[in-house]
Amino acid sequence: MALTGELFIASKRVARDGTGFKAVSPGTGAEIEPSFSVATLDDVETACAAAAAAFPVYSSLSREKRAEFLEAAADEIDALGETLTERAMAETGLPHARLTGERGRTSGQLRLFAKELRLGEYLRARIDHAIPERQPLPRPDLRLRMVPVGPVTVFGASNFPLAFSVAGGDTASALAAGCPVIVKGHSAHPGTAELVAGAVTRAAEKTGMPAGVFSLINGPGNSVGSALVTDPRIKAVGFTGSRGGGTQLMKLAANRPVPIPVYAEMSSINPVFLLPAALEARAEALGTAFVGSLTMGAGQFCTNPGLVLAIEGPSLDRFLTAACDAMTGVPAQTMLTPGIHKAYESAVDRMASAPALAKLAEGKEAEGPTCGRAALFSIAAKDFFADAHNAEEVFGAASVVIRCTSIDEVIEVVRHLEGQLTATFHLDEGDTEVAQKLVAVLEHKVGRILANGWPTGVEVTDAMVHGGPFPSTADGRSTSVGTLAIDRFLRPVSYQSLPEALLPVDLRDGDAGIPRRVDGKLVV
Ligand code: NAP
Repeated sequence: MALTGELFIASKRVARDGTGFKAVSPGTGAEIEPSFSVATLDDVETACAAAAAAFPVYSSLSREKRAEFLEAAADEIDALGETLTERAMAETGLPHARLTGERGRTSGQLRLFAKELRLGEYLRARIDHAIPERQPLPRPDLRLRMVPVGPVTVFGASNFPLAFSVAGGDTASALAAGCPVIVKGHSAHPGTAELVAGAVTRAAEKTGMPAGVFSLINGPGNSVGSALVTDPRIKAVGFTGSRGGGTQLMKLAANRPVPIPVYAEMSSINPVFLLPAALEARAEALGTAFVGSLTMGAGQFCTNPGLVLAIEGPSLDRFLTAACDAMTGVPAQTMLTPGIHKAYESAVDRMASAPALAKLAEGKEAEGPTCGRAALFSIAAKDFFADAHNAEEVFGAASVVIRCTSIDEVIEVVRHLEGQLTATFHLDEGDTEVAQKLVAVLEHKVGRILANGWPTGVEVTDAMVHGGPFPSTADGRSTSVGTLAIDRFLRPVSYQSLPEALLPVDLRDGDAGIPRRVDGKLVV
């Protein structure tokens, strides 16, 4: 399938001559053909106008029709097969197995949201019948359901070129909600983006969707990205990337005449707690497994374990010896972009020169210009917050072990941490009491608490939360992974005393085929 470098604006392929940019191979720095068009501000205008025109049509289609569209998009993405995987490998340096899995996750997410639409529970349908005889005043008939917010802009992520990019979790959940989507493509993987945009566009055509339901715009964030976020027709934003980028977009959105929500997933250091009994029982195994999680995918996961907390003593020393041994054997790995590599190197250099941080181990020396070398540091708990940089995300395979003198000191560190996506415990039976104390604090700091595992690896299910208080995300009341992600693009509407003909089908009396709360009782 030959790439053309065109934009996708409301189902049409559009070329802008003379504005091209090319993807760059992260391993070699060589440019990869073809040249990709950069959108003009007129293109942004066209895409927003088309999305706004599509919204009333798309949002009022039946849930079944939208489910068919999502499933057709999933089929089209699956059909791209190795063409898609190979292009993504060339543009990101990520390995074949990882990208094959991510391709499956991407189509799987679309199918999961199709199921969610058919289930209809996300509508939160509620019916409170009128009580005319109520004294002193009669109660009117009230019915509630969730409705889509309107056109959504999605910023594709660099570290998940499929599962969090053009047809990734943000796009799938917004389309499921009934919102047209305009994707601002990530400049690091434009060919991958074009292939996926072609798949979504074909699916939209095959299933009879309105033209403006999907667009892909390429170009610099500070021009086309900002224009999308400030366009009055855009009603919400999904973003995965840097804290700087995410907070800039939050400010732009908040300063609009009509502010809109930005669901930005930004930075998290994902603390791991080695509780005393577990640490004593299996320090060596934990040390080795920790390095496996830290260095997977060159550490370029938002759930990377960037912080380890444990109480000083012989067991922690055993853990560190095993972790250092494992790390010295880890090859340096190609990072996603030269910019991400540069940011990683300068963060590790800063850590190495910080007086309170001790460098414990490094991975094997880098062989390529953008290879990131793993690094492990330690610090005493009392020194950790003396320098604000210590608690910042380092995007890559670097982590800090905090040596604490007591459990109270561990809890004190947790109290001062910023919001996180995850917290992980390694615990045995003897650790339950300590873990209970920590859970009570962590529930208010993180989106996912997990035991005896590692935070990298995010299942896409109903019960998953991939979100957390700021700065892990812009709004800790939401998740960007799992079926609950649809909530970000919905809002409740109450219908009072409307005649049946004006009520949405899902709220009429009789069996609507979806779970509803009727007069206070759940009817399934
Ligand atoms: P990024 O620089 O934040 O860029 C992400 C996307 O947002 C790009 O499309 C970018 O456009 C756009 N953008 C950024 N700042 C913007 C602004 N002020 N206005 C409008 N659009 C803006 O992220 P990245 O390139 O993927 O990676 C850079 C760093 O982000 C990494 O080193 C890492 O620290 C962090 N990161 C974190 C996660 C996570 O999951 N937490 C994931 C990926 C990256 P352009 O095309 O102009 O760049």
